[in-house]
Amino acid sequence: MASHTASQRYLSTRGGSYDLSFEEVVLKGLASDGGLFIPEEIPSLPKDWASKWKDLSFEDLAFEIFSLYISPSEIPSADLKDLIKHSYSTFRTPDVTPIVTLDKEKNIHLLELFHGPTFAFKDVALQFLGNLFEYFLVRRNKGKTGRDREHLTVIGATSGDTGSAAIYGLRGKKDVSVFIMHPQGKISPIQEAQMTTVMDANVHNLAVDGSFDDCQDFVKALFADPVINKTHRLAAVNSINWARILAQITYYFASYFTLIRSPSFISGATVRFVVPTGNFGDILAGYFAKRMGLPAEKLVIATNANDILHRFWRTGKYEKKPVHGAAAAGGFPEDGAQAHEGGVKETLSPAMDILVSSNFERLLWFLAYDVYSTPTDSLSTRRATAGEHVRAWLAALKSDGGFTVDEVVLAAATEDFESERISDEETLSTITHIYSSPSPAMTQTSATGTTGEGYILDPHSAIGITAALRSVLRAPPPTTHHISLATAHPAKFSKAVEMALQGQPGFSFDTVLPEEFRGLEDKARRVTVARMADGWEGVRRIVVAEVEAERAAAEKAAT
Ligand SMILES: *Cc1c(COP(=O)(O)O)cnc(C)c1O
Repeated sequence: MASHTASQRYLSTRGGSYDLSFEEVVLKGLASDGGLFIPEEIPSLPKDWASKWKDLSFEDLAFEIFSLYISPSEIPSADLKDLIKHSYSTFRTPDVTPIVTLDKEKNIHLLELFHGPTFAFKDVALQFLGNLFEYFLVRRNKGKTGRDREHLTVIGATSGDTGSAAIYGLRGKKDVSVFIMHPQGKISPIQEAQMTTVMDANVHNLAVDGSFDDCQDFVKALFADPVINKTHRLAAVNSINWARILAQITYYFASYFTLIRSPSFISGATVRFVVPTGNFGDILAGYFAKRMGLPAEKLVIATNANDILHRFWRTGKYEKKPVHGAAAAGGFPEDGAQAHEGGVKETLSPAMDILVSSNFERLLWFLAYDVYSTPTDSLSTRRATAGEHVRAWLAALKSDGGFTVDEVVLAAATEDFESERISDEETLSTITHIYSSPSPAMTQTSATGTTGEGYILDPHSAIGITAALRSVLRAPPPTTHHISLATAHPAKFSKAVEMALQGQPGFSFDTVLPEEFRGLEDKARRVTVARMADGWEGVRRIVVAEVEAERAAAEKAAT
């Protein structure tokens, strides 16, 4: 079964395509049957992984892991090493994703994922994805000039973190243009400044005078438009791109090794990961790590009030909006009379404000694979059966707004995962609590601890820590350690941090602000306004014209 052999191929979760290469799935993003790509087999770890990998650098670990998913016939080892090295050289710490012990008594550690160019965890994946796009295109374009060169037009919508991380991942890349739409005036000033002050010719910011949903509708309309698809090769960088999941697997291993090397780790203790979750991409990487053989006892999903995942783990029902009143009757005592009115709720952790979690579909496939077939069935039967179940579930989600899985499926999901839902009030009180009670064991490796006071959590990371504090009650020290993922730097979400820490002794927001953010809002910007009144065709006109101008300028420069 174990296949860390020469050829790793990919299939669609809805059963429509098999036997695709890594390059095909990275460039396509979404399968033509609407499904997501997964590896045909999750590779198991080499026998001697624990001893062989334990002292590797982040980059070397990434190389070992990526090599299990990318055939050397597709990307030769030396090239893959270069890509990895290049991708993580932009991080501000040599260990890329350091860990900090936040509570020594409770064995709670924070995995800081925000040391990349845009100060959010998405950099870990998007720095790599940008280099990967360029690598594939340059290879396809070898010996070609002018209009013969294949050109990739990346289109995305953002309410904040994804857009800036995508722009920093793709800026200056050959043969790639990137268009990111954001709702004008509706994203945080720091995020807007981060995106629009990037002056590379291949970066195009579009400010839409509408909502984030309007931006997403424009993206969907463009991907469905036969006209632009005939003339432009469109690509997506949202969290469903397989390369993003792959890149995120590394830090689960890296943090595990850092932890077990530390003197406080008693041999034989178990490890739980806690992940602030929105689209289920970050935690899905943890699931892959666990299935590969990383000894993680549980993965704890931490959601905000947009709790579709939390409700699934409670009930087996995956539903956009529960019927009015049913939530209170269905066993959410902590919810009180609060009813779900449908639609996304705005919270203090906006990067987790989702209605459905797109990557959850990938987990569904593995659950169906495990539950509805036996190892004696042929591989092709097992895969086809899993694909049929996923297709039916997703069809019900679309037509009825939700579906319920069999008890056996929920039982399987509960073996690997637990879930917690955290309110805005709890988020703020955790930020305050952690700041005002610094742990003596805390080693301040991070840019956040410059005040000499406690640790300053961003609201997303605070959701993880709140969930970790609850999980500790079920899985206490000294036999369990919790690694909670810190997904953003507090300076990116100043509103929540100020709300929580205003008036705390020693606190001033200025001390949190990284050097890179100072003066950012005064820098020159480049952004095109797209009017709702012009519809998606108006966006298409802008995209076509700006790609044309960019390519013409590049050709002129080359001659
Ligand atoms: C994107 C994001 C998340 C959610 O990650 P998913 O992979 O969508 O679950 C959490 N926190 C921050 C800061 C993010 O940018």
